[in-house]
Amino acid sequence: MEPIEAFARELNSGYPGTGIFFGEPMRKHTTFRIGGAVSLYAEPKSIEAFVWAVRELKRRKIEYMILGNGSNVLFSDRRHELAVLGTARLDTLRFAGDTVISGAGVLLSRVSSGAAKEGLTGLEFAHGIPGSLGGGIYMNAGAYGGEIRDVVEAVTYLDAMGTLRTVTGAECDFSYRHSRFEGTGEAILSATLRLRPGDPAKIRERMEELDGMRREKQPLNLPSAGSTFKRPENGFAAKLIDEAGLKGLTLGGAQVSEKHAGFIVNTGEATFEDVLGLMETVKERVFESSGVALEPEVRIIK
Ligand SMILES: Cc1cc2nc3c(=O)[nH]c(=O)nc-3n(C[C@H](O)[C@H](O)[C@H](O)COP(=O)(O)OP(=O)(O)OC[C@H]3O[C@@H](n4cnc5c(N)ncnc54)[C@H](O)[C@@H]3O)c2cc1C
Repeated sequence: MEPIEAFARELNSGYPGTGIFFGEPMRKHTTFRIGGAVSLYAEPKSIEAFVWAVRELKRRKIEYMILGNGSNVLFSDRRHELAVLGTARLDTLRFAGDTVISGAGVLLSRVSSGAAKEGLTGLEFAHGIPGSLGGGIYMNAGAYGGEIRDVVEAVTYLDAMGTLRTVTGAECDFSYRHSRFEGTGEAILSATLRLRPGDPAKIRERMEELDGMRREKQPLNLPSAGSTFKRPENGFAAKLIDEAGLKGLTLGGAQVSEKHAGFIVNTGEATFEDVLGLMETVKERVFESSGVALEPEVRIIK
C-alpha cells in the first residue's frame, strides 16, 4: 500500500467521519478556481485529529501543506504529490468578556459578525476578507487601516517538530502581510483575540460601510485571490498598474481587472500559466514605467 493510502486509512479509522478525498482538484478549494489535483485532501474534524494528521505526515515523510479558505493561493494545474490538510472543521468559536477564542478554520467574516453581535469592536476591518482566521494570522491580513496583528493576543500552533506551542501576539513577528509562520510548515490551530466593548449598531454600520466600499471597488463577481501584488513602499500596486495602462490586459482567461487594477481575475477558463504569465508582464511593464519591482502577495504553489 502507498504511504499516503496507509495514512488515509489510519486517519479514517482513528477519526471516523474525516472528509478524505484522493486526487482532489485544488480549483474546488481556491477562490481563484484554478489548480490541479493533489494526492490527498482531508479536513480533520478536531484539533486532536489535525495534530495526529500533521505528526503522521511528518513521520511518514509525506509532503503536506495547510490550507485555510484558499483565498490567497494559486496552485499550478499539474498533479501535485502533496497532502493538503484543510482547516475548515477547526471551527469552534467562543466569546468570553472581551476575548474571542477561535479555531483556525473559522472564517474572518464569521468571527467579526460574532464580535459585532457580542458588542465587541476591533474586527470590523476583517469582515470582507474572505479568509480563515488561521490564513489571516499567517498573512497578517489587513484592510482599511486594520490588521490582524492589532487584535491577536495568543496563537496555538504545532511547530515543525510536531510540538504544540502557544505564543503571544507580540511573538508572532507580524509585519506587512507577514508573520513568523510564513514558510515554516507550522500549523496554526487556534487563537485568542482581544477586542474592546463597543456599540453593536455602530460596529454593524461600519462593517456594512466597508463591505459597500469593497463591492463598489473590487471585482467580487469574478474568481480571484484579491490583491495580486503586495503594496510597494510609498505607493499602491493598483495605481502603478493602472498608470502603466494595464487595466483590462488579458492573457488567455486571466485579466487585469477593469474594475480594480490590483486584482487579476479568472474570467472563466484561466489556467495557472495564464495568471503567472500575466503577472510577469505586469511586473515588467510596471518596472519599465515606474522603476518599482512588484512582489506577489498571492502564494504560488508550482
Ligand atoms: C476578493 C478578495 C479580497 C481580499 N481582500 C483582502 C484584504 O482586504 N486584505 C488582505 O489582507 N487579504 C485579502 N485577500 C486575500 C486573502 O483573503 C487573505 O490573505 C486571507 O488572510 C487568506 O486566508 P485563507 O484562509 O484563505 O488562507 P489560504 O489562502 O488558504 O492560505 C494562505 C497561506 O496561509 C497558509 N495557512 C492558511 N491557514 C493556515 C493555518 N491554519 N496554519 C498555517 N498556515 C496556514 C497557507 O499554507 C498559505 O500559505 C482577499 C482575497 C480575495 C479573494
